[in-house]
Amino acid sequence: MLTRRSVLGMLVGAALRAAPLERFFGAAHGTAVLLDLKTHKVLGVHQPELAARWLLPPGSTMKPFSVGALLDSGKLRPGEQIPCPIKLTLAGRSFTCSHPPTGVPMRADSAIAYSCNNFVAHFAKRFEAGELARALKFPATSGLFGDEVAGRVQPAGDIVERQLQAIGEADVLVTPAGLLAAYAALATRAGGLVLDGLEGSVEYGTSQLAAVPGVKVAGKTGTVVDRNGTHIVWFAGFAPSRSPEVAVVVTAQGRSGAIDAAPIAGRILAERFK
Ligand SMILES: [Zn+2]
Repeated sequence: MLTRRSVLGMLVGAALRAAPLERFFGAAHGTAVLLDLKTHKVLGVHQPELAARWLLPPGSTMKPFSVGALLDSGKLRPGEQIPCPIKLTLAGRSFTCSHPPTGVPMRADSAIAYSCNNFVAHFAKRFEAGELARALKFPATSGLFGDEVAGRVQPAGDIVERQLQAIGEADVLVTPAGLLAAYAALATRAGGLVLDGLEGSVEYGTSQLAAVPGVKVAGKTGTVVDRNGTHIVWFAGFAPSRSPEVAVVVTAQGRSGAIDAAPIAGRILAERFK
């Protein structure tokens, strides 16, 4: 049986072998992990206990998986587009899009780049009950840390629940380490409009502050409210986007993923590729 001391020892051991990332954080409370995709070694980590044990909804970092599942199943055709009405309410909660009016209809790639809730919620109505949960294949744990809390994916029932799951607000909980593993897997297989969308997020969408000069970064932001009402921000991604060497996750208390998580990831990646 693992004692708390041995668990902490393993976590601290992982932290000591990897480079500390604290200097990229400023005052933000949170965690980050930088993973080498070829050796599957942790290159850098800040607050490994949080990375392994902070169980949260993924929020909009879920969208590339949801859009990818729709495209893979043929339920979303690559050319399909809808104008975004900006406002959105699901189950009595506001999920109004944070992007400005774009003037052109949203497609799969621009919807990921702009993190368009309306696009994803609209097409998520085409999922069967439980379909997205089956398609996700999120690893329960990353295997990177000694005592990880397992992520949870549950089948979504009614239409609204399927919409909420597709935007990462219901029936999925992940740790930062778990989401990193999911993005590491995504890095090896993402192509087409999903990869275009993840690149677009950094080029012209919500992840612009994760951009690194001379290196094309693919990634996605998210912003969620935890059960205590605290705003938690996400960035998950990989680089270089077309021949990935590293994946990174940042999770912190903050206002929005675009403002508070993406720039931390940008600084971590800039150091790696300088
Ligand atoms: Zn939108």
